[in-house]
Amino acid sequence: MSKVCTVVHWFRLDLRLHDNYAFRNALNEAENRQYLLRPIYLVDDDITRKIGVNRLRFLIQSLQDLNSNLKKLNSRLFVLRGKATEVFPKLFDDWQVKYLTMQVDIDPVLVEQDEVIEKLAEEKDVFIVRRVQHTLYDVHSILKKNNGSVPLTYQKFLSLVSNIQIKDSIEITKKVPDQCNPVDIASNEYNVPTLNELGIEENSLGVCKYPGGETEALKRLNIYMAKKQWVCTFEKPKTSPNSIEPSTTVLSPYLSHGCLSSKHFYLKLKSIENEMSHSQPPVSLLGQLMWREFYYMAGAGTENFDKMVGNPVCTQIPWGKNDEHLKAWAEGRTGYPFVDAIMRQLKEEGWIHHLARHMVACFLTRGDLWISWEEGAKIFEDFLLDYDWALNAGNWMWLSASAFFYKYFRVYSPVAFGKKTDKEGLYIRKYVPELKKYPTEFIYEPWKAPKTIQITAGCIIGEDYPYRLVDHDKIHKENIKKMSAAYKVNKEKKSLKRKLK
Ligand code: FAD
Repeated sequence: MSKVCTVVHWFRLDLRLHDNYAFRNALNEAENRQYLLRPIYLVDDDITRKIGVNRLRFLIQSLQDLNSNLKKLNSRLFVLRGKATEVFPKLFDDWQVKYLTMQVDIDPVLVEQDEVIEKLAEEKDVFIVRRVQHTLYDVHSILKKNNGSVPLTYQKFLSLVSNIQIKDSIEITKKVPDQCNPVDIASNEYNVPTLNELGIEENSLGVCKYPGGETEALKRLNIYMAKKQWVCTFEKPKTSPNSIEPSTTVLSPYLSHGCLSSKHFYLKLKSIENEMSHSQPPVSLLGQLMWREFYYMAGAGTENFDKMVGNPVCTQIPWGKNDEHLKAWAEGRTGYPFVDAIMRQLKEEGWIHHLARHMVACFLTRGDLWISWEEGAKIFEDFLLDYDWALNAGNWMWLSASAFFYKYFRVYSPVAFGKKTDKEGLYIRKYVPELKKYPTEFIYEPWKAPKTIQITAGCIIGEDYPYRLVDHDKIHKENIKKMSAAYKVNKEKKSLKRKLK
């Protein structure tokens, strides 16, 4: 057992060394007080049940990268197994912890856990330092500025943050002095677990298109930031949901795991903006980062943000239940090739374009299947590399016209939408290979192909590829009526509530 006091930095959704104030605080504290420094990560024993396999691989890669970057600084990552609430009391004693640093997270599971850890720390006389560094703004102070209520529009949010200055430099982490390292620095006991050690057969996973880690994140950021003209003319609605190579940055998995600091990304964009004329929010790249901030703030300020019931910003809609349809949607078997291609890309690669998310989310909810956005959000949580509590729930509410967006009568067509950017259906041919040989005329609507063509293309509808679950042309009109009725009921309830106040 160590006799020297320790400072612990707890890495969570901040798997990076650049722009990591909380880690820097830990290092300074250890250095100044001549304590030991232990950067830790906790792997919950339930992790394989909580995180989908692709995201788990991304996480493990990110931890390996963090460990190797820490080693370059003369330190390492100490990975511990177990639940935070059970691990910490023992750690506090065994390592004689005096300081615990961490970043502020808003996911309610982490918030609840932090409350318990704070109490445990208080009992053991451990001083906790928490830093806002996952977002550009301190979302709680913005809420305060708006008298505690959530600004429900992006424009209002922008006006609230318009005069907040963002410091124009980021922390560079310095080396860890030898005297801050504990004697068991080289112990294998704390190694990053491999996927195999977690019970996942690595070879069974698909191709790794987006490897995790800070090193990859910075490399990816630099590649995109070098394309100044592209950055300056970026307009989100003009990017393609079904290009074979992504038409946006795919920095989201790195931001959500904290491998990339949003501030670092923001400052890079700002420096380019200063050089030449630039597209503007909400469609510019800076505008995309502001959407992230907007949803973080909405998530932090709204009770039950990831649920319909008990969520004050969410319209109550009497969604139906259909497990078969939900499963078919999740597995890419709806019979609509564009929808199926998107869901299969998501399952295989863990990332899909924003407008592709629009398509499948609208299809599942108000467009076609009339299934709750909460069900879709759970499937996304399982499959997305960039799963992020606030962004996922917020965007699902938007797409299902439950909050933030109210034009429920604007429904995406699973046939026409994809054709706008991919007439030949190359994207469908890649992700739904059973339709690969279909003539372009039928690639979005294979059920319309005559039997002879189906035979020649080697894919019989109803045998090799499913019939459509629903007839979009008919069902979306019925669903619009249901949405209109739900909106009416909600409006009446709200006005009754106002009268009773
Ligand atoms: P870029 O266009 O390159 O944008 C740069 C960054 O801006 C992104 O990495 C992201 O951090 C942020 N951003 C972009 N669009 C949005 C947006 N609409 N809302 C909030 N932030 C945004 N994004 C997640 O990171 N995690 C999620 O769990 C998530 N779930 C979603 C669920 C649905 C139903 C929908 C419609 C969108 C969801 N998004 C989510 C938002 C968005 O689709 C992704 O952030 C974006 O597609 C990521 O790709 P990119 O990094 O290439 O984005």
